[in-house]
Amino acid sequence: MSDFPIEAGDEVVSTKYWHKLDDGRVQCDVCPRECKLHEGQRGLCFVRGRKNDEVVSTTYGRSSGFVIDPIEKKPLNHFLPGTSVFSFGTAGCNLSCKFCQNWDMSKSREMDTLADAASPEAIAQAAHANGCRSVAFTYNDPVIFMEYAVDVAKACRARDIRTVAVTAGYISPGAREEFFSHMDAANVDLKAFTDDFYHKICGGRLQPVLDTLKYLKHETDVWFELTTLLIPGENDSEREIDEMTRWVVENLGPDVPMHFTAFHPDWKMLDHPPTPQETLVKAREIALRNGVHYAFTGNVHDKAGQSTWCPKCKGLLIERDWYQLGEWHLDAEGHCAHCGEAVAGVFEEAPGHWGPRRQVVRMKK
Ligand code: SF4
Ligand SMILES: [Zn+2]
Repeated sequence: MSDFPIEAGDEVVSTKYWHKLDDGRVQCDVCPRECKLHEGQRGLCFVRGRKNDEVVSTTYGRSSGFVIDPIEKKPLNHFLPGTSVFSFGTAGCNLSCKFCQNWDMSKSREMDTLADAASPEAIAQAAHANGCRSVAFTYNDPVIFMEYAVDVAKACRARDIRTVAVTAGYISPGAREEFFSHMDAANVDLKAFTDDFYHKICGGRLQPVLDTLKYLKHETDVWFELTTLLIPGENDSEREIDEMTRWVVENLGPDVPMHFTAFHPDWKMLDHPPTPQETLVKAREIALRNGVHYAFTGNVHDKAGQSTWCPKCKGLLIERDWYQLGEWHLDAEGHCAHCGEAVAGVFEEAPGHWGPRRQVVRMKK
């Protein structure tokens, strides 16, 4: 629980995933943290808390800024490749990962970080005006600002703009169902494959994340890909990658793409070295050996490891170098142009041409 109380003047909106406990506290039911709150107290995520006997959100309509990114940066390699995605986040997070790469936002205790106020309609309009095919809720976990994310998603879908959640999947079943019903795609962090790692390094548990992944695969049409940031000595053993990738194939099937990305020392993990490229290459090899059809390395230059290859004929389908696309060998239906094999993903006749650019967008007040 956070020590910073909700002040009388703080702007808040009501939420619905919570219930009263017999001891007078109120429990937030959005995520497996299950924060039990006294009046005025904030939850661990800092942005939800109890005010006037209900759980409220304090970040509705407030963003940490807007950026247009390549969709490959989320990372999503099989969702409208080459297109641009209008990206934003808010503040706070419901995990406390020591290696967080966005800690300035996710650990923010300063609402001043939330520079840009924007209505859902204004965001959908801005995405449309900038030619973005999708809007991404990213930088911090949208689970904790789900009311805002859901309203933005509704405004986007009304304009045929898709929605992307970049999340750790640490969300409880009721909230999960509503949240993902408004998403077209997701990148879910599978941070490690041991409960010990989740417990010691992220302050969470592994099983709820696995439950979310099974839910996404078997109960929704959301296109999703997985990302694991490999941290030397913590979650990068061949045994752990072997167990993780076997689990993925057995429980989610071979078509969920997996990204193994490089760690750079950050936040509270300055004592760990960056991930050697060989570790990423090895992880990708293990995934492929265990039957994952699409496995990628990330945060390094590695054309072979970042391109999409046909799982059947092994031909090159989409050439990639970091966020830059090259050759394209899918037909109009998203099949391999060499052998006709259907390729899992959301593809159109041709790739987008956004390239690796990053463009900051200022919203008009
Ligand atoms: S979203 Fe999770 S961390 Fe935030 S208040 Fe609710 S239960 Fe606690
Ligand atoms: Zn093929």
